[in-house]
Amino acid sequence: MKIFDPHIHMTSRTTDDYERMAAAGIVAVLEPAFWLGQPRTQVGTFIDYFSSLIGWERFRASQFGIAHFCTLALNPKEANDDGLAGPVLELLPRFLEKDGVVGVGEVGYDDMTVREEKVFAAQVELAKTAQLPVLVHTPHRDKKRGTERSLALIRESGIDEAMVLIDHNNEETLPLVKETGCWAGHSIYPDTKMTEERMVALIRRYGRERMIINSAADWGKSDPLKVPRTAALMASAGFAAAEIEEVVWKNPADFFAQSGKLDLSGVTEPGIAPKIDQSLLFEGNSVLRGQTPRKS
Ligand SMILES: [Zn+2]
Repeated sequence: MKIFDPHIHMTSRTTDDYERMAAAGIVAVLEPAFWLGQPRTQVGTFIDYFSSLIGWERFRASQFGIAHFCTLALNPKEANDDGLAGPVLELLPRFLEKDGVVGVGEVGYDDMTVREEKVFAAQVELAKTAQLPVLVHTPHRDKKRGTERSLALIRESGIDEAMVLIDHNNEETLPLVKETGCWAGHSIYPDTKMTEERMVALIRRYGRERMIINSAADWGKSDPLKVPRTAALMASAGFAAAEIEEVVWKNPADFFAQSGKLDLSGVTEPGIAPKIDQSLLFEGNSVLRGQTPRKS
């Protein structure tokens, strides 16, 4: 079956990960712009970061037969830096028009500060203007209140809730999201947060509609194969292949297709080798280190 991991930070991952992901059936990924682990100090680094997400990283994914899309935003943590926030918000509209950019994100709360709220609201407005979906990160600490406040901000903004994906849900926050028209994302992590087992239990209880699963893999302890692993557990729990594909492919594809820019024409069906040409270069650079290019 085809798998779409709709929240993964590939920039932090290796080519081995791309190979393992492709072998596990992942044919498309969505990379939200995020926090790099230490604060950026210059606006120019955002220009280069956004450019790499729509340039080099997209090319790198293609070299392993994976379609790469992204959402762009100023992340909640760095929204607290006044020197960055204004100028990055000014940059965003022209980047949101680029190919492969299918939404605004990840936006939301980290510490739930006044600054974060201002930047969150401003970016929802950018999404409304650009008619793009929004990916909302919910905070790790005080998650329930963070989710309630995020949903309240979304409601007040007047954006169509069907254009909003509230991410990183758990048993406590999912019922809140299900009361709205928003989509519900779940990040499956090793050891913490949501596990495959708990995710399957949530799908049993709440059904498959507007339910989305991702690995949220990044530079931290995480696993880029969590979506295929959850799909495998759904299969052994008795879900039919079409039901699993609804969650791991159709839902994320339907959500981001609302951008009008989700071009899935290059995605191949399961069992058919994807079109890969590793002899191609991106601005003169290749992912190869003298290896023979694969072509299929
Ligand atoms: Zn993330």
